[in-house]
Amino acid sequence: MVDSFDEECDYLFKAVLTGDSAVGKSNLLLRFSRDEFQLDSKPTIGVEFAYRNVRVGDKLIKAQIWDTAGQERFRAITTSYYRGALGALLVYDITRRATFDSVKKWLHELREFGNPEIVIVLVGNKVDLGSSREVDLEDGKGFAEREGLCFMETSALENLNVEDAFLQMIAKIHEITSQKIL
Ligand code: GDP
Repeated sequence: MVDSFDEECDYLFKAVLTGDSAVGKSNLLLRFSRDEFQLDSKPTIGVEFAYRNVRVGDKLIKAQIWDTAGQERFRAITTSYYRGALGALLVYDITRRATFDSVKKWLHELREFGNPEIVIVLVGNKVDLGSSREVDLEDGKGFAEREGLCFMETSALENLNVEDAFLQMIAKIHEITSQKIL
């Protein structure tokens, strides 16, 4: 399903990562784009992005995924971060209830500044730390159902469901986009 970076793609789209600081956004992207994990917080601040090519049916899609790279810590995410985004992973940390409580705020921003048809996957990260869980699976699932979002619990550390979370978003974007093209 996944092809190398250099291959010609049929189309490119932008997706963004959002959610509170230190929920694991950068590591989810690192895992998806390079199959790596980083134990320390990243040293740099600023918008970063990564690409990955994904084959869906007979189409080769290049996903350009933007990371806040720490800007959310200073509430410095500007509207241009969301502009043109067709997909988003809205991430919280299952071991910190406050990060789940913030989801509403991030969702509001995505809906206000993103594409009206933006595909959003709500992601409860750090399931490897299940003994410190503060957000039940049902809480995340229920919220996603009520808001019409896709939902997945992941572990960037153990590489659990990370691929699925991104691929679910990409497949859904492809579905919406191809309906428009036809
Ligand atoms: P961001 O600020 O949302 O981009 O979060 P980071 O990706 O920088 O991660 C913040 C911290 O959580 C780092 O110390 C990571 O090593 C750690 N972390 C990220 N994902 C996971 C995970 O799935 N499990 C565990 N146990 N730690 C994680």
